[in-house]
Amino acid sequence: MQNESTDPSLEELRQALATARRAVVFTGAGISTESGIPDFRSPGGIWERTRPIDFHEFVESEDARREYWSRKFEGHEAITAAQPNRGHEAVAELVRRGTARVVITQNIDGLHQKAGVPDEHVIELHGNTTYAACLTCGAHHALEPIREAFLAGGALPVCRACGGIVKTATISFGQTMPVEAMGRAQDESQACDLFLCVGSSLVVFPAAGLPVIAKRGGARLVIVNRESTDLDAIADQVLNREIGETLARAVAGAEP
Ligand code: NAD
Repeated sequence: MQNESTDPSLEELRQALATARRAVVFTGAGISTESGIPDFRSPGGIWERTRPIDFHEFVESEDARREYWSRKFEGHEAITAAQPNRGHEAVAELVRRGTARVVITQNIDGLHQKAGVPDEHVIELHGNTTYAACLTCGAHHALEPIREAFLAGGALPVCRACGGIVKTATISFGQTMPVEAMGRAQDESQACDLFLCVGSSLVVFPAAGLPVIAKRGGARLVIVNRESTDLDAIADQVLNREIGETLARAVAGAEP
């Protein structure tokens, strides 16, 4: 590891953070791996073991719904017990300082909020896995009773209000994106002066289009990710490093 004062790429990131007036932090599953939640595409990630259940499959097939809830409750503990790591804490500090106005996240684990970012500063593009909702009328449902009934006798949840199909409040492949969150994310990306992408393979659209909107709007684009991404070519800076240590060191040295 390089000495603090002779690490030019970290120094460049500090400068970018110290001079930003309106930054956006955009996060993917990679920021939560240090909290013990596997990502999708890293070696050992979720998709080496399972393929995703498409929204239409979920709606049309009872078997698919059974498989969906079974997977959900297998991974449930990992998410409910997870604690924010140094990466989430550094992001929360950027919001507290006013450097970042919003955190746009593809994650569904709620760890930005747990690290102290107020709800109104987090834009969740792919929803939230801590509760469920009816696909017909939108009524919210707590997960715990669903879990108990499913584990006890394999019961699939139906809406108590209208009898519709109930699913976690997340956005699956093939499901319509949340219009309000997506619109806000596009506006913030367009208006920011620094767009910091953290822990995303940048292959899931339309979320992965946001760095392009920011860049076209004149923002500096910085990518922090272990592996290369398709958007490295248009980025102003790419740091192929571990997220927790990198953000903790960069944010600590970038007090305005
Ligand atoms: P992804 O799995 O496609 O990409 C994660 C990237 O992070 C990879 O390129 C990987 O190299 C990098 N990475 C992982 N750990 C890292 C670390 N410690 N330091 C540096 N880089 C690291 O994830 P994505 O781009 O967010 O897209 C996948 C979808 O997965 C999203 O829509 C999201 O909703 C969903 N997802 C969310 C969670 C969560 O909420 N924590 C977990 C898994 C998947």
